[in-house]
Amino acid sequence: TDWEYAEAPESTDHVSISDKYGLFIDGEFVEPEKGRYFTSVNPATEEVLAEIAEATQQDVNKAVEAARKAYEKSWSKLEAKERGKYIFRIARLIQERAREFSVIETMDGGKPIRESRDVDIPLAAAHFFYYAGWADKLEYAFPGREVSSLGVAGQIIPWNFPLLMLAWKIAPALATGNTVVLKPAETTSITALKFAELCQDAGLPEGVVNIVTGAGQTGSHIVSHEDIDKIAFTGSTEVGKIIMKTLAGTDKKYTLELGGKGPNIIFEDAPIEQAVEGIINAIFFNQGHVCCAGSRLLVQEGIADEVIDKLRDRMETLIVADPLDKNTDVGAINSKQQYDKINDYLELGVEEGADIFQSSSELPDKGYFCKPTIFTNVAQSNRIVQDEIFGPVLTVQTFRTAEEGIEKANNTPYGLAGGVWTDKGSKIFKVGQNIDNGVVWSNTYNQFDPTSPFGGYKESGVGREGGLQGLQGYVKLK
Ligand code: NAD
Repeated sequence: TDWEYAEAPESTDHVSISDKYGLFIDGEFVEPEKGRYFTSVNPATEEVLAEIAEATQQDVNKAVEAARKAYEKSWSKLEAKERGKYIFRIARLIQERAREFSVIETMDGGKPIRESRDVDIPLAAAHFFYYAGWADKLEYAFPGREVSSLGVAGQIIPWNFPLLMLAWKIAPALATGNTVVLKPAETTSITALKFAELCQDAGLPEGVVNIVTGAGQTGSHIVSHEDIDKIAFTGSTEVGKIIMKTLAGTDKKYTLELGGKGPNIIFEDAPIEQAVEGIINAIFFNQGHVCCAGSRLLVQEGIADEVIDKLRDRMETLIVADPLDKNTDVGAINSKQQYDKINDYLELGVEEGADIFQSSSELPDKGYFCKPTIFTNVAQSNRIVQDEIFGPVLTVQTFRTAEEGIEKANNTPYGLAGGVWTDKGSKIFKVGQNIDNGVVWSNTYNQFDPTSPFGGYKESGVGREGGLQGLQGYVKLK
């Protein structure tokens, strides 16, 4: 299959990362107006990978102008099936370069190569394939409605799934006839810039996709820009709230994909070995840098000791090492800042009176690595139970009845994703329906597919991305 392109590397010689990246505006790489750059660091080695341009207000203005011009002159005028062809071409090019994209994603972000290779990059391509198919079928997506595009979309993404989050944003926007100005996160800009090169290779009309790099300030220039019609943001709830305040009183549409504190609920009748694997995957996948991570384990009392013992044993087998190594299970923490934040939470958990267990894994000498950690003996009100830590840290609570499990599951400000493990189909539906989350998995965890809408209740966000519903955020219906 096409995914075979993405083998783990023996070396990184085939990967080309420029020393310096400008901004991608109107189809070409340009110097930032003020000439300022920042560095992108490999978190596993602490070595600088590239210099990345910092976009100012003027640069954002230029990118929005280019996107507006492209929207009016080319993209919105194209026949829908032609737009679809470009998006298909992009999907194919991602597949062809999957190996290079996987390696860069791992070097820039710290995630294990197995995950970049098997999850991030194939899913990014799959998103473009899926939405390419919708481009000329929008009237079937919204029967009886006249469908039109919005115009220019401003898109801001986080660092945990850089190319995949870009795909979630750009694919539906282009399929519905919008043009985009996208800002990747400051610690993981390189695959977005490689994607810009790929847009050139696909012959995408100039200005349809613009990539502006920079930190939060650059993002805020996008959010407050008057000529942007829609903001799509994925990131923390804290920044999501700032964006909502900025947008209040404007006519911009917005979708927000924010934080989570996912409950993973294990009933006594669950297949235990399978559930333990599910718990491991739910919290240690991508070092726990996952919005929908199952970061709160809720286990029914009768099997709690057995599950915790098995979990500890399994944690001892996890390999925390060089993310480029195919055998690595847990890679590097994305940045020094995130590493410090996680360590602060580890101290806080102990101060709050919880019992800490960490795997005895040896950590590499260099780079930002954390041991897989669980906290038992926690209270619902503890900050380690309530706050999103966004690292390989699990809290463990017990419950007696389904009602108590559901009550605990729902008792945080978040409502993104969770899991239910039981042998009884009826229980899956009863519990699943009562969990205030946009996504519930049963007897599995962290399964993603472009056909399936994703998004949160409560403080986890507004709107859905993926699937048919993902188109809704980018169209006007009459
Ligand atoms: P973050 O909110 O700090 O940053 C996200 C993006 O917003 C970055 O590109 C950043 O530069 C930019 N930004 C920062 N301040 C801004 C401002 N004032 N105005 C505009 N843009 C600004 O989040 P992060 O640390 O990069 O990512 C982790 C967070 O993302 C977690 O909370 C995680 O749960 C969430 N997330 C959610 C989903 C989802 O689908 N719900 C998916 C992935 C990540």
